[in-house]
Amino acid sequence: SDQIRRMTPPQQLKLEEIRIAWQRYREDIESALLRDGTSRPDARQMGALAESSQSLLDDVDQLMVSLIKEMHREQESELTTAYLLLVVDILFLCGTWLIVRRGFVRPVLRLAQGSRELANGNYQVHIEHRPNDEVGQLVDAFNDSARRIGTLIGNLEQEHLNLMRAESMFRGVAETSAVGVYIIQDHKFVFANTRLAQMFGVEQHRLLESLGVFDLVAEGDHDLLEANVPKRLHPDGRIEGLASEYQARRKDGSLFDLAVYGSGMSLNGRPAKIGIAMDITERKAAEEVIRKLAFYDRMTGLPNRRMMEDRLGQLIALAKREERKLSLLFIDLDKFKAVNDQHGHEAGDWLLAQVASRMGSVLRESDTASRIGGDEFVILLPDAGNAEDAVVVAEKIRLILEQPFVMDNGVTLFISSSIGVVIYPDLADNLRDLLRYGDEAMYRAKRGGRNAVEVFTLLQLTEN
Ligand code: GH3
Ligand code: MG
Repeated sequence: SDQIRRMTPPQQLKLEEIRIAWQRYREDIESALLRDGTSRPDARQMGALAESSQSLLDDVDQLMVSLIKEMHREQESELTTAYLLLVVDILFLCGTWLIVRRGFVRPVLRLAQGSRELANGNYQVHIEHRPNDEVGQLVDAFNDSARRIGTLIGNLEQEHLNLMRAESMFRGVAETSAVGVYIIQDHKFVFANTRLAQMFGVEQHRLLESLGVFDLVAEGDHDLLEANVPKRLHPDGRIEGLASEYQARRKDGSLFDLAVYGSGMSLNGRPAKIGIAMDITERKAAEEVIRKLAFYDRMTGLPNRRMMEDRLGQLIALAKREERKLSLLFIDLDKFKAVNDQHGHEAGDWLLAQVASRMGSVLRESDTASRIGGDEFVILLPDAGNAEDAVVVAEKIRLILEQPFVMDNGVTLFISSSIGVVIYPDLADNLRDLLRYGDEAMYRAKRGGRNAVEVFTLLQLTEN
């Protein structure tokens, strides 16, 4: 009945017709067979039966053909639907693939490619991806990372560049410097310029490889060097410069004066020292010349008035402290002008130097002879504690100066001296009075006829 229900109305009508015809055909056969039971159906009856059976068969045939056609049509329509579904499926799959590819695979591939570019040093890499989905967030995170890494690397490169520039500037300045430039760590050279190596007479590489600071400083200054090292580092971590002078030793063992201006620094996280070093031998010699000019008399090599007063001040202080006495001789050459006039100024100069030398020959180490003016000399005798001792020395000087001076040209010069003696603290206890009274005693000797020694006395003091 299900099949019948699915038939079309014309087919159902046909089936109904067939059923009616079949009913009639059966009734016809039954009536023909059951009419009397003896006689057989006649030819007319048989013809009519055959005709209705034929018509029945034709109708069935027609119905079958129509059903088969219908079935075929249904099958074709189902097949078409199946094909359509297949096409829709394929289109759906393709669409899905495209969506997945566009939304996921492509960005992920681009991410992988971007990562490779980033690894190869392209920090400008940027991936375009619009949708704000998870992949989009991943891409945003990647872009952000790439940008940050780019900035970081850019900064690092700039810093590296600055460092390199600074280092090459340092090396340039250091190498062309007229002074020695060094960096020392753990008493070893980390950097030393050519000038420093030249100063010590060694090859630059030897300075860096095998020599330490103690090899370059005279033994006498090792303690000073050791003491100076920690001074550059304040307890509060502050680093400050320190100027020091050493006796330095060249490779050949010769010594020279070295001035060092150093500061502490941090190198590779550990303390180091950076500084410059200068050979100051010439400067020291010049300073010595200046010192001599300032404190010594060029002609005789004796201390000048300035130095004599300085020394006298020290001796007075010492004598006061130790409650001791000291003597002062005030000497003026007699008629010295005449020597100049007769033999020339140069002869006079020569005589002054000879006088100084002779004075030195009778003095002790502790005595100080000085030239305080043209032909005026002062001798400080810290060990002569009374007038008698001082006069003994004064007499020695007077006598030795009386002796003739023979010049290289054979000319003989004669001179004598007037000497005043004054004792600290007998009648004078200060520098000014000592010099004044010594001068007065000397003038007394002059007035008495010259070539004599006079001690400043109480009488003179009262005359004053
Ligand atoms: P007096 O016995 O009174 O001391 O007579 P004097 O000729 O020595 O005269 P005074 O001491 O008053 O003068 C010192 C002279 O020494 C003055 C100057 O002509 C001379 N004189 C001063 N300084 C120098 C010098 O550096 N070289 C030379 N050659 N002569 C000098
Ligand atoms: Mg004189």
